[in-house]
Amino acid sequence: MGKIINGKEVALKVKEDIKNFISNRKEKDLKIPKIASILVGNDGGSIYYMASQEKVAVSLGAGFLKVTLPETSKNEDVISEIHKLNEDKDVQGIILQLPLPSNFDEKKIIKEISPSKDIDCLTFESQGKLYMGEPKFLPCTPNSVVTLIKSLNVDIVGKNVVVLGRSNIVGKPVAQLLLNENATVTICHSKTKNLREVCRVADILVVAIGRPKFIDETYVNEDAIVIDVGTSSFEGKITGDVDFDKVIDKCKLLTPVPGGVGALTTTLLIKNACEALEQNEY
Ligand code: NAP
Repeated sequence: MGKIINGKEVALKVKEDIKNFISNRKEKDLKIPKIASILVGNDGGSIYYMASQEKVAVSLGAGFLKVTLPETSKNEDVISEIHKLNEDKDVQGIILQLPLPSNFDEKKIIKEISPSKDIDCLTFESQGKLYMGEPKFLPCTPNSVVTLIKSLNVDIVGKNVVVLGRSNIVGKPVAQLLLNENATVTICHSKTKNLREVCRVADILVVAIGRPKFIDETYVNEDAIVIDVGTSSFEGKITGDVDFDKVIDKCKLLTPVPGGVGALTTTLLIKNACEALEQNEY
């Protein structure tokens, strides 16, 4: 039986560092990091993520500002809020909850976030820097995946990594970060042929497709490290893309859902806000 990779445990160490950073600054009467999170409409997942961001930020001593706009607002209303936050010297990081309702132009709105406050690495500039190997901020979910792998003291160099999913917010940046770590990376998607065979030879399999329990034991080998990014609501529970009970008996190491990738993501967002504060002071 494989072992479980505990995202909460890995997050604890990062949380300790953030708490120390903030309390040191408070003692010296210096500015503390403050994050602004923008929610447009009433998407259940986005409301959940925003609440968990607030909880983690406050528990670590960071500031948190909620900006909510109704679904009936216009692109210009969201852009105007972003401009205000870009100018606000007390705000170091801006998070836009995605996806936006379908009546909004997501690309047009994202472009307006100042790259110096883009702690979720959404803008063209942030993504361009990531792909040039010079990221300003590491995108949080992909960084969570890499941080969990590194916590296992596994040498990533030359490893055969298969990333399942090619979205701009998860699949592609995960693949890029792992390429930056000198892994040999294969990206798969809905048109990939012989998917099972491609996945089965992976040393590290990262799954981000949003299909609950899609990956069973026939997709992995005995030595595989499996990282499950999926978070779908399935039969009333948050469920990963990997069928945990079937895969844990076959692979070497596996992240649970919840308690794996997601347990670290929000903490890394606050870490990026701390870095933004330091970067913007100079
Ligand atoms: P997305 O934008 O819907 O992209 C899904 C990707 O999976 C696409 O590239 C799609 O291929 C591929 N795909 C779908 N079905 C497939 C299949 N049967 N075989 C092979 N590939 C398939 O999703 P996303 O935003 O990347 O999110 C993926 C999952 O991660 C979701 O469950 C989401 O909730 C979760 N998530 C978790 C966190 C966290 O912190 N834990 C953060 C963000 C997202 P095509 O490109 O060909 O369509």
